[in-house]
Amino acid sequence: MCRLHDCPGLDDNQAVTSEHEQFMVEALAQARLARDAGEVPIGAVVVLAGEVVGRGFNGPISRTDPTAHAEIVAIREAATAIGNYRLTGATLYVTIEPCLMCAGAFVHARIGTVVYGAQEPRTGALESTVRAAELPGHNHRVQVLGGILADDCRALMQTFFKERRSPRRDAGAASGSGLQAPGAVGSGADD
Ligand code: ZN
Repeated sequence: MCRLHDCPGLDDNQAVTSEHEQFMVEALAQARLARDAGEVPIGAVVVLAGEVVGRGFNGPISRTDPTAHAEIVAIREAATAIGNYRLTGATLYVTIEPCLMCAGAFVHARIGTVVYGAQEPRTGALESTVRAAELPGHNHRVQVLGGILADDCRALMQTFFKERRSPRRDAGAASGSGLQAPGAVGSGADD
């Protein structure tokens, strides 16, 4: 981050974008850990006061936990790290547009802003299928910003699903979980 502030050529918007990109790179690193574990490659980090306080990667199969999405894992780690069940003012970075379950968790956790990479046309619940952060009745508003390093985030998913579909590969742990979704990010992210 200091690198950015030392650069006189950046205006404010560019600096903010670069900061988002910097943290999205960390989320992408988490997504690769998911991929290496044979899970749908989605990663997340929680940032509070400019510091990463929670990291998570998608792991419902390896954890035998249908709620073990990257966002949930990162939120749990962050809450434990700061010793507070509310992450007021935190920014959560996640490589793929979150699902409805995770959107609910953001409200419970009082996440301030969610920054995501690529849209998830089939299950994304912030902009694609429903705008869950804007539903009435919630006592907390989550700000949403999408499209940060979207190409990198999408490519990781597409490569993963392409390799899964390849007949040369053994059927892995995620087989049979609705991984084919032509035209989508790859989908199956939440199956
Ligand atoms: Zn989710």
